[in-house]
Amino acid sequence: MIRSGDEHPATPDWRDQAACVGEDPEIFFPLSDVAVPGTEASLARAICRRCAVLGACRAWAIEHGEDDGIWGATTAAQRRVIRRATTEPAPASGRYRGQAGASRT
Ligand code: SF4
Repeated sequence: MIRSGDEHPATPDWRDQAACVGEDPEIFFPLSDVAVPGTEASLARAICRRCAVLGACRAWAIEHGEDDGIWGATTAAQRRVIRRATTEPAPASGRYRGQAGASRT
């Protein structure tokens, strides 16, 4: 969620096209992450879906571990799932764990 008045770098970037500038910040930092119709989270995600820089915003929030609010039409919980799926190694399979190098006879 980009607030008007947030510091921007000297060069233009994705924040300059953010659809949330000027929107009520409260809807982007709802008390509940539940995004069912009519909730603040749902309203925020609707604004995000018409935002030209949704992808850049979401990537930034995931990369920077933004753990509060709606960014790139995702809740904090959704970003944690994406972060885990894309940055953490997959756990070893329990079925084959410890079998590396085992001979087949
Ligand atoms: S995707 Fe949503 S939170 Fe991100 S800049 Fe656009 S409107 Fe703002």
